Amino acid sequence: MTPDELKALVRTIPDFPKRGIQFRDITTLIGNGRGFSASVEWLAERVEGSQAIAGMEARGFIFGAAVAAHLGLPFLPIRKPGKLPCNTIGVDYELEYGLDRLEMDPLAVTPGQPVAIVDDLLATGGTALAATKLLRQAGAAVSRAAFVIDLPDLGGGRRLAEVDVKVDSLMSFE
Ligand code: 5GP
Repeated sequence: MTPDELKALVRTIPDFPKRGIQFRDITTLIGNGRGFSASVEWLAERVEGSQAIAGMEARGFIFGAAVAAHLGLPFLPIRKPGKLPCNTIGVDYELEYGLDRLEMDPLAVTPGQPVAIVDDLLATGGTALAATKLLRQAGAAVSRAAFVIDLPDLGGGRRLAEVDVKVDSLMSFE
């Protein structure tokens, strides 16, 4: 399937989760078997050569885990606070309103291990930057991130480039 055909499978929901936001809904993309599989293959090609794939809860788990399985690589879940049963390290980061936090198992990576980030959507880059910081704190080498959707007007790609993370995205919405 072409990127344009895949883009047509993303549903846009106006005013979700709040007024004025156009939510790009990937449930219709993953609800199409060929669309899901083509998206995963596209992402997997971009992060090939990495030794593990990290994905952020929750939609990053859908694509990240599928990409990891496709490439036969380990999947590292980057989780919301309090979810992991083991000792964790965490990073606090700012959302549009308030703070959020991501956590991971510091023993999940080996020193210098090349880990790629996969998520459904890149907006301001706050989530992916926090994941990069966290993975680097654990010792990983993070230089690549792949997204299904980029919202380039929100500047996430530029922010990730500033910390030496190369970004690929399958489609973008202005
Ligand atoms: P950022 O941290 O780059 O500003 O926002 C990206 C994060 O918010 C991603 O983890 C993504 O899942 C979520 N997100 C924000 N807006 C949307 C949207 O319109 N659609 C989807 N599917 N996720 C979104």
